[in-house]
Amino acid sequence: MIPVSKLPQTGTTIFTVMSALANEVGAINLSQGFPDYECPAELIELVNTAMKNGHNQYAPMAGLPALRERIAEKTEKLYGAVYNPDTEITVTAGGTQAIFTAICATIHPNDEVIVFEPAYDAYAPAIKLMGGTVKSLALEPPDYRIPWEMVKRLISSRTRMIILNSPHNPTSTILQQDDIEQLTTIVKNRDILILSDEVYEHLIYDGQTHQSMARYPELQQRSYIVASFGKLFHSTGWKLGYCMAPAHLMQEFRKVHQYLIFSVNTPMQVAVAEYLKNEQSYLALPQFFQEKRDHFRTGLSQTRFELLPCSGTYFQSVRYTGMSDESDAEFAKRLTTEFKVAAIPVSAFYNKAIDYQVLRFCFAKKIETLDRAIERLMKI
Ligand code: PMP
Ligand code: GLN
Repeated sequence: MIPVSKLPQTGTTIFTVMSALANEVGAINLSQGFPDYECPAELIELVNTAMKNGHNQYAPMAGLPALRERIAEKTEKLYGAVYNPDTEITVTAGGTQAIFTAICATIHPNDEVIVFEPAYDAYAPAIKLMGGTVKSLALEPPDYRIPWEMVKRLISSRTRMIILNSPHNPTSTILQQDDIEQLTTIVKNRDILILSDEVYEHLIYDGQTHQSMARYPELQQRSYIVASFGKLFHSTGWKLGYCMAPAHLMQEFRKVHQYLIFSVNTPMQVAVAEYLKNEQSYLALPQFFQEKRDHFRTGLSQTRFELLPCSGTYFQSVRYTGMSDESDAEFAKRLTTEFKVAAIPVSAFYNKAIDYQVLRFCFAKKIETLDRAIERLMKI
């Protein structure tokens, strides 16, 4: 029996497709976002110790208390918001599960959710599965700024949520102070939730400030904030993240979380709770990634690609207009098979196939990997 698809228009995620192609043809994989170097040895040691010390059974449903306490401390110190670890923080299986859970817990059939595109590809399917309607707003290169006047026009009595992502994947832009002001005005006196995907909160460059929803009480009160330790500690395969929200929102989140997954792997939580005691573990990240960004951008400036701005995340986008008439999907495929460097075609992040001939490269790689990639990209 073939079930009636709940997502008839959805194929396999572009990350799986491009990584598979890169592996098949032996290309340098700058497509899917993950480091090609090891996560900190000390962290691995802490996980091993936790396992040896018998931390191998179910963690509490909301996450290990010690880890939730460290998260609350970090958030208060960085953004000034006080979250109660008992009622307002839940540890999740990566940012992805937090996103799905928040949408599942709050979106009813026919609710509208505003999504800015290009958008991380996990948002729309979750909204559709809940019977919600995706109201997408396409942003344009090179700056990808949010046109707030158009957002106002998209708002209706059915608007239930706005999804934000800063620093932004795939465009590497960040929310600025004036975006926050516009957003605050728009949601004021309206029943609109914010899902703020902040998984790249520490990957922000040139001394700029991360505009977390946690900084602004009016926004914080209506926000689910999503974070990921995969990005912080170079351990995407551990699938560990968390969600923060005021207690009344978190209560609904946990109703879903407890049946979707119940709880998340214990030894990793024990280890991360310990590792977070050293604030350098995350405060050193902007410097670490900025060096890679600068190195990669200097290399790319010797190619024919047009560099787009990069204020955050570990992604660098380029335009290839003038180099080829191919669609970004075709060009990314040829780049992978012929030139042996894999990238993500950014049209994959738009609901309607909008193609600005932009590719996204991931620079969370060893310097020698980036250099080898540049050498190949210079031949195009
Ligand atoms: N949001 C964005 C914008 C991402 O790029 C990612 C990618 N990893 C996630 C959420 C999901 O994070 P995780 O791997 O922790 O599930
Ligand atoms: N977040 C990563 C990216 O944007 C990959 C996530 C995934 O593979 N699902 O490349």
